[in-house]
Amino acid sequence: MIEEKVDVLIIGAGPSGCVAAAYLHKQGHTIQVVEKSKFPRFVIGESLLPRCMDHFEAVDLLDCIKEKGFEVKKGARFLKNNVVCNFDFSKKHTKGWDWTWQVPRDEFDKTLTDELQKRGVPISFEEEVTNVIFSDDGTSKTTIKNKNGQVKNIAAKFVIDSSGYGRVLPRLLGLDKPSALPRHASIFTHVTDLRRPPEEEGTLITFDVVTDEAWLWVIPFSNGITSLGYVGPSEFIDSYTGTPSEKLQQMLKLSTHYYDRFKDLKFKFPPIEIKNYSKSVTQLYGKGYALTGNSAEFLDPVFSSGVTFATESALRAATLASEELNNNFVDWEQDYSEYIKEGVDVFATYVKEWYTGNLQKLFFHRPENQEIKKQICAVLAGYVWDKSNPFVKNHHRLIKTVAHVIDLENDDASK
Ligand code: FAD
Repeated sequence: MIEEKVDVLIIGAGPSGCVAAAYLHKQGHTIQVVEKSKFPRFVIGESLLPRCMDHFEAVDLLDCIKEKGFEVKKGARFLKNNVVCNFDFSKKHTKGWDWTWQVPRDEFDKTLTDELQKRGVPISFEEEVTNVIFSDDGTSKTTIKNKNGQVKNIAAKFVIDSSGYGRVLPRLLGLDKPSALPRHASIFTHVTDLRRPPEEEGTLITFDVVTDEAWLWVIPFSNGITSLGYVGPSEFIDSYTGTPSEKLQQMLKLSTHYYDRFKDLKFKFPPIEIKNYSKSVTQLYGKGYALTGNSAEFLDPVFSSGVTFATESALRAATLASEELNNNFVDWEQDYSEYIKEGVDVFATYVKEWYTGNLQKLFFHRPENQEIKKQICAVLAGYVWDKSNPFVKNHHRLIKTVAHVIDLENDDASK
């Protein structure tokens, strides 16, 4: 019962699926994007990194985003015990974009799909991929169910799985692997930011560190709405009782900087809780398919790397799939898996060392070392493949080493 044949079938129309689709369409391949929900739909992941501007630019998606007037993000602010650590993306080790956006994802993702549809990219909404069967030569048959329960099949030469937390191929092919990161959870919502202060303070994206392991994100959007969310060990989130709204209201009291601004504001939707959000897989590709974005890996929200990895991996996977469709040899292990893992590895170290407290020592130690700050800033901007940056090249040991030196300095100072 094959009804359609395409070169590439893309599962999911989030940023990852859209970047892959934009690239493959531009190269003249026949594609079909299958998306389970109806857009606009809510999804978390609102703070972007400058590196993803490279990806949107490469597939001509920057202009349609610019037109929407999303809040410009020029850096990120971290607060802890009255110490402020401000990263300014224009002061970073690696050359590249020095700004990006903070966005409500419902509108952002719809902007991307609208633009693709204008270009003639076929996206079928409210259709769910329920099964994919691969033949030995890598060609596949994908089963798709629409909202009325009707089923159809699409034959494809290649499948890009950009299904985010749907994790379609990891589930179907048994590729899930426990994440090496601690089991953390998050609770978040949006508010109409009625007491938003004027000028920069009102627009700054901030991570307010309330305990060594728990922190509050504040992400103001240009539409007057602000995203608020706590992240921490599951036990921390579970230590609050009541409805999700009661829990989050209680937690807001932990933030001395923000409590007065957000106390008693009505939440726009009951806070959503996500537990054990870190995900990993045993392999990022196989014959006839590649996993991109959250379907492949998700680390932690602390450095906002999710969407950037989603678009980085999508652009790579689409480029390589296109090469393969044009009968050129592709080394998926080296050019996809190893490349992606290299970047993931750098961010994974930063996430781990954030929660061990070592990285926080570097952020909040005073006086600041401007050279180190520039190097870390490049990582926080998403430029995690630049080996000229010692904080990329030596990520496994450098954070630990500098934290140790800070400890020794603090010991000396207290004597
Ligand atoms: P998604 O954006 O999730 O898109 C996947 C799409 O696939 C969805 O639209 C879904 O409906 C569709 N789909 C699923 N299953 C199927 C199916 N069977 N058939 C068809 N379609 C299907 N990232 C950041 O960059 N910045 C942040 O500030 C940030 N904060 C976060 C906070 C929390 C608490 C968490 C948990 C994550 C956060 N992230 C953040 C990560 C971010 O949410 C993801 O990395 C990002 O959305 C991944 O994009 P994607 O395109 O891979 O997947």
